[in-house]
Amino acid sequence: MKLKDTSKILQKLREVMEKGQCSELPLQAVIVPSSDAHQSEYLAPRDLRRAYISGFTGSAGTAVITQQNAALWTDGRYFLQAEKELDDSWILMKMGLKDTPSIEDWLSQVLPAKSNVGVNPSLYASNSWTKMENSLSKVGHKLLPTTSDAIDAVWDDQPKPPNNPLVLLDDSITGMPIKEKMTALRSEMAKKQADWLIITALDEIAWVLNMRGSDIEFNPVFFAYLMIGTNSVELFINKDLVTEKVKRHLDSMDNISVHDYSSALDFITSTCSLQKVWTFPGSSHAVVSAIPQSNKISTANSPVSMMKAVKNAREIDGMKAANVRDAVALCQYLQWLEETVPQGGVTECSAASKSLEFREKQDKFVSLSFGTISSSGATGSVIHYQPSEEDNRPVTADEIYLCDSGAQYIDGTTDTTRTIHCGNPTDYEKECFTRVLKGHIELSRSVFPAGTKGYMLDTLARMHLWRAGLDYMHGTGHGVGTFLNVHEGPIGMYIGNSGRIVQVASDVEIQPGMVITDEPGYYEDGKFGIRIENAVLCVEADTPYHFSNKKFLTFEPIAYVPIQKKMIAKELLSAEELEWLNNYHAKCLEIVGNELKEQGHSSTLKWLKLQTSAM
Ligand code: ZN
Ligand code: ZN
Repeated sequence: MKLKDTSKILQKLREVMEKGQCSELPLQAVIVPSSDAHQSEYLAPRDLRRAYISGFTGSAGTAVITQQNAALWTDGRYFLQAEKELDDSWILMKMGLKDTPSIEDWLSQVLPAKSNVGVNPSLYASNSWTKMENSLSKVGHKLLPTTSDAIDAVWDDQPKPPNNPLVLLDDSITGMPIKEKMTALRSEMAKKQADWLIITALDEIAWVLNMRGSDIEFNPVFFAYLMIGTNSVELFINKDLVTEKVKRHLDSMDNISVHDYSSALDFITSTCSLQKVWTFPGSSHAVVSAIPQSNKISTANSPVSMMKAVKNAREIDGMKAANVRDAVALCQYLQWLEETVPQGGVTECSAASKSLEFREKQDKFVSLSFGTISSSGATGSVIHYQPSEEDNRPVTADEIYLCDSGAQYIDGTTDTTRTIHCGNPTDYEKECFTRVLKGHIELSRSVFPAGTKGYMLDTLARMHLWRAGLDYMHGTGHGVGTFLNVHEGPIGMYIGNSGRIVQVASDVEIQPGMVITDEPGYYEDGKFGIRIENAVLCVEADTPYHFSNKKFLTFEPIAYVPIQKKMIAKELLSAEELEWLNNYHAKCLEIVGNELKEQGHSSTLKWLKLQTSAM
């Protein structure tokens, strides 16, 4: 279905480009990334500029518009959706295919010599900017920061910026008062001799200030910029949201000034840039380029992202508790599926709503942490599939069903995937499932020396699939926030070319206290999808020896939801793997069983006992 006819909007945009209405010079091309000024993964409605101009609504993609052409680049997850949604004005550029040109190559083919290519510098990360600027200048074109956004200029009914109230978190939840966070960050700044630390990532700002918001669906963040000086703090935010209560919360920091959100860039230019400023290549070009080279201190990741990724004791307790309540809802859901699917009438959408219904009843529930992936049979092989009213397959007892879902609770964030069959899986389906499970177990029980980086462990999750000539085209794991973003940098486990944001940041050491997902899968086009995902906590391993006095690390699952025994080909499991599984299930019964009893769900407790009995 074509969502809309973009030809009139494109015509308007081409006029704006030609007349130079949003730039110092007329533009021969405009690049429209899927981003906001904070390089967020999920976007608020007013930031869906690429979707507005192209009609393509997938989460990843870049639109490029010239006077004659319009093209959209997206990755394998979205080829089918883009083909459906783009109208005749657009060329679909399938990233990762041999014959697909890069944006730079395509522009050099279609543009007249010495063209100006415009991008909103707030929407483009500084590192992407440098790369694009270099490639374009090699073929004689210029990358030009626009002075205002070109899409905003033609978007008549653009939604207003969100304006949602702030949530203040008590130290008993965060485990670290704002003041302590400031002291820790200032000591990092002192090591770098930085006068200013500029934080632009919304989840980092929320974490530092012990506040949450709801400006972006699924992500409990609010729009702001934060600049930490050696003895002052400058917060740029919608001032209407700073109530007396918020003021008192913020006053626990000395010398904090609250400014209007829109004045952040001016402040960087007029004040910060005169001193030594610590910035990051992942921040926008607008922010990073406002600081003269001689005053710039740059590291790959911000100290906040590293501190936030290593959870403190309170945060770990919260993540565990949230996962137990979430597991109660998931057990109720899986039981409901097993009982209801064989009777007929269940669809991917109705199943997803049912899972939400169970979750909403749990204490401290805030929202889902991402759109529920509820997929039956063939749609399970579309890795980022979310059912809609038009694409809504029945869930039947003849097919594999995959559900990847999670929620935000005040004390933690969850992300769990289970794959089940409500009838009789084939031997081949069971073999694939068991190989995915073996990889999941291999990674979960791995022991590795401190200093190991995320991507080094990726092979463990794939090796049992590789042995059978199988593989999967997505990352093996990502960090998870504490009542924050479900995909949290900088840690990740990636070697495959999955094209996701966290991939570039996976060159980070895994440390005790990090919560990461363990989520191998296998997808057979047009037939089924399998994924088994638990959030796991990195802890110190108890090893008999300590080579070169090194610490050795391992993982401990924090999600306890039974893995369907019907899908497991027991003969493919080694004795150790079987032991792991039986122990995991015993803990499921102990931890989640207790909570089920507490909440009075006796029929689900009975179901859980059956699911978790030893194999
Ligand atoms: Zn997931
Ligand atoms: Zn995940």
